[in-house]
Formats: sequence, structure tokens, C-alpha cells
Amino acid sequence: MKRTFTLLVMLLAILQVATAQTHKCGQSAVIQNRIASLPEYEAAIAKTFDTARKNSFQKATSRSKQVLTVPVVVHVVYNTGVQNISDELIHSQIDVLNKDFQRLNSDAGDARDLFQGVTGNAEIQFVLADTDPDGNPTTGITRTETDVETFMDVEISFESILSATDSCGLDIADPATLNCIMEQVLGGALEDSAEEDGSMPMDNVKSSAKGGKDPWDTERYINLWVCNLNMNFQGQEMPAVMGFAYPPTDAPNWPEGAIPSNIKSVDGVVVHHEAFGVDNPNAGQVGGLFNKGRTCTHEMGHYFGLRHISGDGDCDSDDGITDTPAEVASQSAGDPTNQPSCEELHTLDTCPSDDLPDMYENFMSYNPEACQNLFTKEQVGIMRAMLEGPRSGLILQQLTSTHSTELDQALTLFPNPTSGEVNVQLTGYDLNDFELTIQNVMGQEVLSIPATRTIDLQNLEAGIYLVRLGNDKFSTTRKVSVL
Ligand SMILES: [Zn+2]
Repeated sequence: MKRTFTLLVMLLAILQVATAQTHKCGQSAVIQNRIASLPEYEAAIAKTFDTARKNSFQKATSRSKQVLTVPVVVHVVYNTGVQNISDELIHSQIDVLNKDFQRLNSDAGDARDLFQGVTGNAEIQFVLADTDPDGNPTTGITRTETDVETFMDVEISFESILSATDSCGLDIADPATLNCIMEQVLGGALEDSAEEDGSMPMDNVKSSAKGGKDPWDTERYINLWVCNLNMNFQGQEMPAVMGFAYPPTDAPNWPEGAIPSNIKSVDGVVVHHEAFGVDNPNAGQVGGLFNKGRTCTHEMGHYFGLRHISGDGDCDSDDGITDTPAEVASQSAGDPTNQPSCEELHTLDTCPSDDLPDMYENFMSYNPEACQNLFTKEQVGIMRAMLEGPRSGLILQQLTSTHSTELDQALTLFPNPTSGEVNVQLTGYDLNDFELTIQNVMGQEVLSIPATRTIDLQNLEAGIYLVRLGNDKFSTTRKVSVL
């Protein structure tokens, strides 16, 4: 009995140290789970990324400078009063996103000289939505009380910790060992709790039926859920992941079944309530570590297709971006007792063979958020290409002030994607009452014709276009992919 008790205390201590020291982005664990249930998903992400990279290179010189505005809805899902975060805290988070994605952050100048040349401005403006999917005015914030104590509802077993220490070692003073233990324990727990469609307990926050809040149209809004993601181990609540997001997949270009059928209902960003906003007054166990709102910046980077600059592996792993140096993920960020100063990180170079030190300044690294201050030009190129491609539904809103949900439901366009003709089917309305306007994703009109049953797009360059069907009273806009 005594031995069991000692073992329990020891394992608890290991887990506590491990969780406290790990940067808590759940991206890789989440994606791995999704791939396990649908192997094609990995290829879908990779293809979307490659297309974005190609588009971003093509547009690097010709792209017009334009800030693109995206609507955000913040779903606060709370079980306790402190989880019901204030409007003020939410506004502070939106402010951080706007600064970080428009290079207006006050610490932008802190990037070391050798990286100043590659810093990029994503020119993305985040606004809380002012109109809900039904066309009603909104603050862009929803609040839902829930019985769910934590959405990181996973079972951590002693066996899993023991087996992790077997393969990772017991040197818990070593950050790499701790990270190894944590990834294995948490990864295993997530795997055990995943459902058949690949969704995990954390995805429950996205379902009203499961104690969370259903998303608003995930193609038109960035859904941002804030909730409790602490895990419970032997009655103790402890940090697990601070956030996660699904990367874009260019759905119209994929055969049926290649992308999880439920992606539309889970797409968006989830952030743990203690890591949300600036100087969160209820930061609890992670107080001081994630107080600059950059967990959300990082997760938004994932949402727009970026990977960790470490490539989640050794020096040979890559993030698909050439202007970020190779690195092995640093685990220093999560240690509250031993936070390195940014100056101390100057010499950090986990992959010396590439002649550049680690870019601890990068939002997609694992370093302390006080030292993070940049995206690179190529990262920005990827994010813009995603916004102008698979995420372009987000920029429809600003182009369609007279948007009609009824008209939306009455309209069918096929085939999509197309290499030429698109058929227009309209139920319950007279096509003759409408005009068709084709815009590129920058909002520039490329074609305007009276509405007809077929439209010919074969003279357009390959890419994403917005087909607007409307008149002076109401309209709807659809994304069409021209191959
Ligand atoms: Zn991450």
C-alpha cells in the first residue's frame, strides 16, 4: 500500500512537472488523431499547403497591398464564473491579433537584426462579427453555460505514465524527457478517447448537443471557442493544452471522403480560458506564462495553414517554409520557475548546421511569448494565399452587405470546381430578376452578366472566384474554384 502511494505521488509529480513545462499547443496531437481515422487527411493538408505555397510565390510580386478583414465570433463556454471571461478580455485578444497580423505589435522592433529582413506583414484585420448567420445584429460574442467541467476529458492512467517513463527516461530535469513523457501520455489519452470519426473530447465544445456551442457557418466566420482545457488527474486539475486549430483543406478540390465529413462542424480555433487575452486575471496555474495573448496568435497561424517552425521533429523536419531556420522545438517556454530571458535565447541554436540561430521571435516557435514578435515573409505568403483560397469564404461577408440566407439556400452551382462551364440552378426565384457578377478574391470584378443557366468561366485564370447572384435588394455569394 505504502509503495503504491509513493508511486502515485512520484507519478503525479512527474506529470505535474511535465505539464507545467510543456508548451501546450495541441496541434500535432489533434492532427495525428484526425489522420488515424482518415489517412487521406494528411495528403489533403499537404496538397492545400503546396497549392498555397505555389500561389504565394506567384503573387509575391504582383499582390496588391490590401488589408483583408475577417469576421470573428467568440464562443465563451463556461462551467464556472472565472471561465465566463469578460468582454474586455475578449477585446484585448482581438487587439493583439490585429497588431500581430499587421505588424503593429509594439515589440516588432525587438526582432534581431539578422531576421529584420524576413519579417512579414500579413495585413489581416480581425473584427468581432456585427451580423450573425441569420442576419441579426450581434456583439460577435456568445455565452453558453455548460455542465461540462473540462473539455479535455481524458483518462490518464498510471500505466501510461509508467510506460512513457520507460521509453523517455526518468530524467525530469531534462526538458526533452519531460516533453517526451507529456506527448506520449497526452497523445495516448487522446487516442483512447477519440471517437470513430476522429473527433476528440475537445471538439465537444463545438457542439451544443455535447455541452458546447454549435459553430456559426465555419466558411464565413472564424469561430473561436474559449473554454476549460485543463485535465483532471486523480482529482487534481492541471494544464494540458492551451489551444489547437485545424489547418485549411481546400474542400472543393478533394474527392468525397478525403476530408473528414465533420470538418465543417469543427473548423475553428479553441483556446484555454486561462491563456486567452492580455494579462488574464484568472490565469491560475499558467499565470505569467501565456499572458500576452499569443497563444491565440499562434493558433490563428495554424488556422491559416502554418506549421510549427520546428516541423515537430529533429533538424531534418521542416515547416515547408524556407525563411525560417531549422530548429528543434524548445520546451523552455512552459517552465514557470525558469523562464529564460530573451537575451539568454540569443545563443540558442538547436540546429547549428544551418548557420542561423533559432528564430525564437517567431510566433510559430515554442519559445516564451514575451520574446515572440514576428511572422516571416513566407509565412505571411502562405497565410494570405490560404485566406484568398480555401479560407476566402471569410472575406465574402464584407463584399455582400445584402446577403440573403434564403437566396443562398435556393442557389446551386455545379460542377465546382470547374474547368469551364458552371450550371446555375435557382429554386423558387426567377433567374431573370438577377445579375451575376464574378469577382476575384481581392474583390475586383472580372465579369458581369445577366443571370443565365450556364456561365462560362473558361477564359479566367485558374483560382478561386466569388460568384455573386443578386439584384439591388438582396444577394448571395458563392466560392467557385476554376481549375
Ligand atoms: Zn502550435
